[in-house]
Amino acid sequence: MVHPLFPGSFDPPTLGHLDLIERGLRLFGRLTVAVAENPDKRPLFSVAERLELLRTCLGAREGLTLTSFGGLVVDFARAHGHALILRGLRDTQDFEFEYRMALTNRTLAPEVETLFLMPSLEYTFTSSSLMKQILEHGGDASAFLPGPVIEALRGRASP
Ligand code: ADP
Repeated sequence: MVHPLFPGSFDPPTLGHLDLIERGLRLFGRLTVAVAENPDKRPLFSVAERLELLRTCLGAREGLTLTSFGGLVVDFARAHGHALILRGLRDTQDFEFEYRMALTNRTLAPEVETLFLMPSLEYTFTSSSLMKQILEHGGDASAFLPGPVIEALRGRASP
């Protein structure tokens, strides 16, 4: 049985991410969500916090594994026996980036396929980076973020 890997920054996890995770679980019955340790980016939440937020948002779900990884996605996929990488596709901008990355990954690891899923229409314009911009300027991102993420952000804002 295929056990897909859904890698990403998840900083913070959005309703769009959760939508995709639900779709992956429904399709394959199991899924590993892997939070990338990306030292180049200035994170809003640490990797441990992102994992905890995902855990709180998703609860204990059969077939769901939450983990983190450093280095190349394909190396992690290979090392853990994932023959499929799941990624989200929102618009043509995603497509250009994701297409290049999928073909590059295929060159690095021909045995690992990439599969794209589209979210519900309502989350097509939801992205972590847009969320960060809203939050930076004191805006209300509650329409796009899961409750536990909103709570964590509130906790942060209070002295
Ligand atoms: P990365 O830095 O790897 O792009 P992200 O956390 O931004 O990490 O995204 C991880 C994956 O989730 C990507 O495949 C991205 O396209 C997908 N994704 C993010 N937001 C959404 C959304 N609203 N709907 C569907 N897929 C999404």
